[in-house]
Amino acid sequence: MGKYKRRHFLAQSGTLFAAGLLHSGFSSKGYAQPEAGEGFGAVIDKQPFGRLQQVGEGVWAVVSTPLNAQGEFAHAQTVCNGGFIAGEEKVLAIDAFLQPAGAHWMAEQARQLTGKRPTDVIVTHFHADHSGGLAGYQVGDEGPEIIATETTRKLINERYGEGRPQEDQPFARPAIRVVGPTQIMLDETTPVTMDLGGRSVTIDPLSGHTPSDLAIHLDDLPIIFAGDLVWKGLFHNYVDAIPSKLRTSVEKLLKDPQKLIITGHGEIGMAGEMGNYLELLNLVEERAKAAHAAGQSPTEGAAAFSVPESLGEWHLFSPAYYERAFSAWYRELDA
Ligand SMILES: [Zn+2]
Repeated sequence: MGKYKRRHFLAQSGTLFAAGLLHSGFSSKGYAQPEAGEGFGAVIDKQPFGRLQQVGEGVWAVVSTPLNAQGEFAHAQTVCNGGFIAGEEKVLAIDAFLQPAGAHWMAEQARQLTGKRPTDVIVTHFHADHSGGLAGYQVGDEGPEIIATETTRKLINERYGEGRPQEDQPFARPAIRVVGPTQIMLDETTPVTMDLGGRSVTIDPLSGHTPSDLAIHLDDLPIIFAGDLVWKGLFHNYVDAIPSKLRTSVEKLLKDPQKLIITGHGEIGMAGEMGNYLELLNLVEERAKAAHAAGQSPTEGAAAFSVPESLGEWHLFSPAYYERAFSAWYRELDA
């Protein structure tokens, strides 16, 4: 690996560390890429980092595949799932991925399929793997409206706006190319209807994965973009979670079994087939509460935790994820 390439790779890794996704030396062996969801619509484009598939009339989902067959982080362009919804006037993109290259790729797909680049982008929550690529939607002096809640705007700046010193460099460097919203949702309790021309979506302010998460409901098709509130086949990242609120939000999103859920990470699927996700959240709660009551530390509690086979396979982005889950519950229990 040449000097330039290595430095480039390290810069990518730095961003993944910042996103809380990567830990050194970690590999989740035998990770199966989420191919199962391919049944939900024609695959339009397939890249090493993810694929684009049509999941409904004028609706496309990005399903990211950041891990290689060895379960190691290999593709950082998108990392999260997302997609876009075309109306007669607007093309609404959901999320911006980790890198501008990911957003640029999806915007180009949108242009080819709908005749337009995204006119609007919703950032479901502040994490770098959903907000880090925003700059990739801009072309010359034209860019989309960027919609986020006030909490998300604030957290993007707090978490990623600050530069980190670089060795032998006069400048500190933020973890991502921070781009802010142009449309800020100040009321984070009331759903908003957005007209795309001939169809509309409902922007649903929720919380639980972070202090502020948006889910997007199509009003004319049984499809929900759930952001990181719902994961499939990958264990939830509780790093900023409010677990009691997470469960409430997930119950709401999975209530109608006939809805197609575009998850934040892992496979997409029908709500009716995602009961094991809710069961897993409940199991984590039960075990975390028991460990807390027994006076154990989150580390001790997590060390005794494993996912029972009956709940299916849940891979870990990082071995620290069980401990993060227990810590999130301890934050709530100690508050
Ligand atoms: Zn994410």
